[in-house]
Amino acid sequence: MNIAESRAGIVDLCKRLHARNLLAAADGNISVRISDDEIVITPTARNKAFIREDDLAVITLDNRVVAGAPSGERLLHLEVFKRCPLARVVVHAHPPTAIAWSVAYPEMSELPREALSEIILAVGHIPIARYAEPGTTQMAESVRSFLPESRVMILARHGALSWGEDFEEAYNGMERIEHTAQILKSAHELGGITQLPSAELERLYSLRKSLERARYEESRVTRATRARWRTFHFGSDAPSA
Ligand SMILES: [Zn+2]
Repeated sequence: MNIAESRAGIVDLCKRLHARNLLAAADGNISVRISDDEIVITPTARNKAFIREDDLAVITLDNRVVAGAPSGERLLHLEVFKRCPLARVVVHAHPPTAIAWSVAYPEMSELPREALSEIILAVGHIPIARYAEPGTTQMAESVRSFLPESRVMILARHGALSWGEDFEEAYNGMERIEHTAQILKSAHELGGITQLPSAELERLYSLRKSLERARYEESRVTRATRARWRTFHFGSDAPSA
C-alpha cells in the first residue's frame, strides 16, 4: 500500500463508517502506517463525512507533527502501532450500541463471548477497556494490556478501537463490534442471553487456536517474502515495508 492508496483508503473508510452510523459529527479517527516511522491520520475536529485527502495529517511514531492538524486522540493510534508490528490501519469510532453496553453495565469486562460462535471465531473476544478521558495518555494506557493480542475492543463510555493488517480487516473489526453488540442487545430484550453448549464451545476454542496459528504463519511468510523482494530490488537501501 503506497501513500496515495493510504490517503484514498482513509477517506473511503471515513465515509463508510459515517454511512453505517459508527461515528457522528467530529467523532472518531483513522490512521495508516506509511513507513517505519510515519503515520497518516485524520485531522482534529472534522466530520468524517466531509473529509478530503488534503485534510489528512502526517505524524511520526514519537508524536511529532510533520504536516496538518492531527487528531487529538492520536496517542491511542500510536499506542497500537508501537505495540502491534502487524498493524497497518487503526480505526477508532463511536459505535452506539457497543458504547451503550459499557454505560448500562460498568462492571462488564467484555461482551458475552460464549453466546455467539462468530465472536470466538472471528475475533476471539471483545474486551471493554476501562474509561479514560479521550485524548489523554491514560486513554492510550487503558488499551495497553489488550495489545497486541486483541484487534478489537470497546473503550468504556466512549467508543471502540479496531486494527488490521489492511483497510478491510480494520473496518471489519469495527462492524463486528457494533453488529455483535446489537445482536446481544436484541437477545437481552427478547428474554436473555444464553450460552452455546460446552462441547461446542470447546470445539470453537480449538478451531480459533488453529486459525490464529495459520494467520501467524501467513504473516510470517508474507513478511519474509516482502523483505526478500525489497533486498532484491533495492539492495541495502531497501525502503521499509
Ligand atoms: Zn473518540
